[in-house]
Amino acid sequence: MHLPTLAFAGSLFLTALAVAEEAPVNPQVASVAPTAPVAAAPASPAKELSPAIKKYCAELGKKFHEYRWGDPKCDQYSWEHIRNSSLGTPLMWATFGDEKSEAAANTTLVLCGVHGDEITPVKFCWDLLHELKTNHTFTDKMVVVAPLVTPDSFLKAVPSRTNGRGVDVNRNFPTRDWQAHALKRWRDTYKNDKRKFPGHTPGSEQETVFQMNLIKRYKPNKVITVHAPLTLLDYDGPSLKAESGTTAKILLEQMSQKSSGYKISNYPIFPGSLGNWAGKENHIPTYTLELPNSNNFETDKFWALFKESVMYAIDNRMKPPVD
Ligand SMILES: [Zn+2]
Repeated sequence: MHLPTLAFAGSLFLTALAVAEEAPVNPQVASVAPTAPVAAAPASPAKELSPAIKKYCAELGKKFHEYRWGDPKCDQYSWEHIRNSSLGTPLMWATFGDEKSEAAANTTLVLCGVHGDEITPVKFCWDLLHELKTNHTFTDKMVVVAPLVTPDSFLKAVPSRTNGRGVDVNRNFPTRDWQAHALKRWRDTYKNDKRKFPGHTPGSEQETVFQMNLIKRYKPNKVITVHAPLTLLDYDGPSLKAESGTTAKILLEQMSQKSSGYKISNYPIFPGSLGNWAGKENHIPTYTLELPNSNNFETDKFWALFKESVMYAIDNRMKPPVD
């Protein structure tokens, strides 16, 4: 796998902030040593869960019941867990495929529940987990799923956009424009809207570092992040007009076609957003799927609409970017 993209701008921040766990590989080494010295973690059969994960799964089960989503069967996955949120909730992920094998050359990272009040994406990731667990083999692909990036927001009695410390995790990535613009824009454009507070410093939040470390460790060649309710498919990454963006462009168009022509929109990036950090600065094709709404009764419809699209993206290998 060739991924020169992790050794540039973000690496300074990666080195400074993303110490440890989800990413045991030094990013400067990562581009020449793609096999991370870490245990592969196929999601099946499920391993014994820690008490912390069991507790979390129980809480999640209550939320699923509240939303009439059935049993998440959370205890049937082999979760990886290193880092906790500021409130002590596990930030966990599951992997499908062996990161030490050739399958890792086609790795997709799927992130859901970045904004906890956007509840439909959380169920979407659980539908994806179930699909991956039951209907697929992973000799030629790897999938890393973090189904609930910001659990404290989602698990509240009334879910919120921001995390347990009141930070919008999708404005907290250490992008180059963060220092100059993140807080300024929050004050001037968003009039101190608490829902969009980017934090006091970039990369200050556990949930941000969690996502950065997943990218650093698994070196995905595409990222799919699921939000709601903007009703669009957005792309950030290598220019779609350049040769290096050809595969990314085809994938974007196919994803739209396979979801009944879902609208492709070039939504702007923000200081501290994932699309800015992973897509623009680290050149990893990053697809933001904005579901139509957060209505808990429509999740089956959304999975039916986008299942083929997301599985197509997972199945298809992305050519490495050419710089
Ligand atoms: Zn969102």
